[in-house]
Amino acid sequence: MKISKAVRPFTVTRGKGFRLAGVDPGNTDGIHSKEDARDILAQGIERLAQMQEKLYAQDRWSVLLIFQAMDAAGKDSTIKHVMSGVNPQGCEVHSFKAPSEEELDHDYMWRSTCRLPQRGRIGIFNRSYYEEVLVVRVHQELLAKQKLPSSLVTGRIWEERYEDIRAFERYATRNGVKIVKFFLHVSREEQRQRFLDRLEEPEKNWKFSAADVRERDQWDRYMHAYEEMIRHTATPDVPWHVVPADHKWFTRAVVAQTVIDALQSLELRYPKLGTGKMRELKKARRELESQGRKKR
Ligand code: ATP
Ligand code: MG
Repeated sequence: MKISKAVRPFTVTRGKGFRLAGVDPGNTDGIHSKEDARDILAQGIERLAQMQEKLYAQDRWSVLLIFQAMDAAGKDSTIKHVMSGVNPQGCEVHSFKAPSEEELDHDYMWRSTCRLPQRGRIGIFNRSYYEEVLVVRVHQELLAKQKLPSSLVTGRIWEERYEDIRAFERYATRNGVKIVKFFLHVSREEQRQRFLDRLEEPEKNWKFSAADVRERDQWDRYMHAYEEMIRHTATPDVPWHVVPADHKWFTRAVVAQTVIDALQSLELRYPKLGTGKMRELKKARRELESQGRKKR
């Protein structure tokens, strides 16, 4: 496919030494125009629908798409556009908010583990367990609410979380869950513009949150947390895709193509029926045909 090459630069398979400053949120390399991006997205949506059918029929692999980003980077609209062609029966979206009391009474993976997609399905995490090394790292008072035994909260806690997340993803991968994780990288200035749009356009007012604006004060700390997260959790089996997000059309096309590449790597096939099953189909066909003749 045309842009597979274009998405490759955004894939981080070895986190060590990764620098977020090296990724320009305004980048649109590899796709020449909005119109081209629209074509790529439209083709991608169609292709995705075909591949999802096979994924479902084969019933072996499952696919987990993880979306992380700062507010207004376009997670919701990317999910909406990229997944617009897939059969809702084979797809589930989970949005992770601040944990409930019940969730805080468990280990932090608990709420994610039970939402991993079934075989044959696509699961989408709109935010994820990665918040545990992002918002919780930036606002350490959230960590205090997690009721961890104090002897376990040491200076190594973030390193330990990265290690546990890597182990969890390796476990899931070995069980047939293909994880594809995206960081939609928006610039601080573009976020400001999008917040202003939310204030100016009446249909967007409902999206506005004053808390999100206050969170901008922590921008650098978030960027540091994202960079560290990518450094420690980008692996050859489960890379991070760091996608420039100042141009929504570009983001969507890159995400669509990345998902297609991931599905393609699974070599999905419709299940091959055994001779017994084939005989059954033939018999059923004969029966149905003879019933039709009788009626006439
Ligand atoms: P949108 O604003 O587009 O509807 P959103 O994902 O920003 O989507 P919100 O309800 O605004 O949804 O925010 C969810 C909040 O929950 C985020 O601020 C996020 O950081 C927070 N959150 C998610 N997971 C955790 C966690 N494990 N611990 C603490 N806070 C979390
Ligand atoms: Mg929000």
